Amino acid sequence: MLFCDEYLMPKTLDEAFAAMESHRGRYKLVAGATDIYPWAREGRAGDVEIPVLIDIAGIPELNDKKIDDKRTRFGAAMPIQRFLDDPQLARALPCMPRCAVWFADDQLRESATIGGNIVNASPAGDGIPPLVAHKAEVELASRSNGRISKRRLPLDLFITGPGRSEMAEGEILTAIECESLPGYGGSFEKVGHRRSLVISLVCLATLVKLDASGKRFEDVRLAIGGIGPVPLRLAEVEKFLLSGPLDEGRLEQAAEMPVHLVQSRTRQEYRREVVRGFVMRGLVNAVRRAGGHAVLTPELEASYA
Ligand SMILES: Cc1cc2nc3c(=O)[nH]c(=O)nc-3n(C[C@H](O)[C@H](O)[C@H](O)COP(=O)(O)OP(=O)(O)OC[C@H]3O[C@@H](n4cnc5c(N)ncnc54)[C@H](O)[C@@H]3O)c2cc1C
Repeated sequence: MLFCDEYLMPKTLDEAFAAMESHRGRYKLVAGATDIYPWAREGRAGDVEIPVLIDIAGIPELNDKKIDDKRTRFGAAMPIQRFLDDPQLARALPCMPRCAVWFADDQLRESATIGGNIVNASPAGDGIPPLVAHKAEVELASRSNGRISKRRLPLDLFITGPGRSEMAEGEILTAIECESLPGYGGSFEKVGHRRSLVISLVCLATLVKLDASGKRFEDVRLAIGGIGPVPLRLAEVEKFLLSGPLDEGRLEQAAEMPVHLVQSRTRQEYRREVVRGFVMRGLVNAVRRAGGHAVLTPELEASYA
């Protein structure tokens, strides 16, 4: 059980920093609290007493979004459900709706925030690989002598290990900014121990753009989670796919390439098999959504639908 003496809901960043300063050493930030509440229960952290919880989810700046065809910016308190039902976000971030639809359930997605998912830095965090593939940066705010300042870091450098990040004491993750990729085909593959409400064992975000012939990749991005301490871009696989025509044989070669990257301590053989299948499936689905039917045989599409 989680106990607190005070539950504060600041309405601005300044109010949040003021609360953090006056309760230094005694507070914890929460947004959706969907990681914090289950953590503070028997079997995990047990009974936890945090004198002050500061709920930052209602701060308007943390819920804003700004989108054009080049850049997308959204507040850290954006609920995961918005990536599924906001058409502007869905167009700019083509694999996020597919990530969101497999994320928890409808009720939880309305509370769970993308910022909480990032700060939690779980190797199983589903929101992170798609944003790594979008070359996302995180914006971190802090306040000193009454002045708020902000710094930015690439998301893949922000996360340094399981549950670890570059977040400094007294900072708030305010926003995420990344490339908009409208017109790309996107896919998100995920597997866990059960079908629903599942924590990922492996997840893979795929984004592809085909050239005018529809027979080659103009851009391809693959980011994987769950096989090591931090999510990874599969840079070697991307380079290989860009270097030649798009055909079944080359997709199969690409699917073999990242298998050796599995570092997880458990279920290594299973994860290797999953990685191979996910790269194939991710690419086939993303190519189809990018309009590349002509290069996929009906058998290949059917195998990975
Ligand atoms: C039943 C269930 C199913 C789930 N399914 C999935 C799933 O499918 N995929 C998945 O990836 N996760 C899943 N989760 C985990 C969780 O829902 C997500 O990680 C969620 O995105 C966390 O966001 P939150 O806002 O609830 O975080 P919170 O619990 O509020 O916070 C998590 C951590 O981040 C910090 N924090 C939050 N926001 C900020 C900020 N803006 N600045 C600084 N620090 C901040 C908090 O202090 C805390 O340490 C599931 C959880 C449950 C209970």
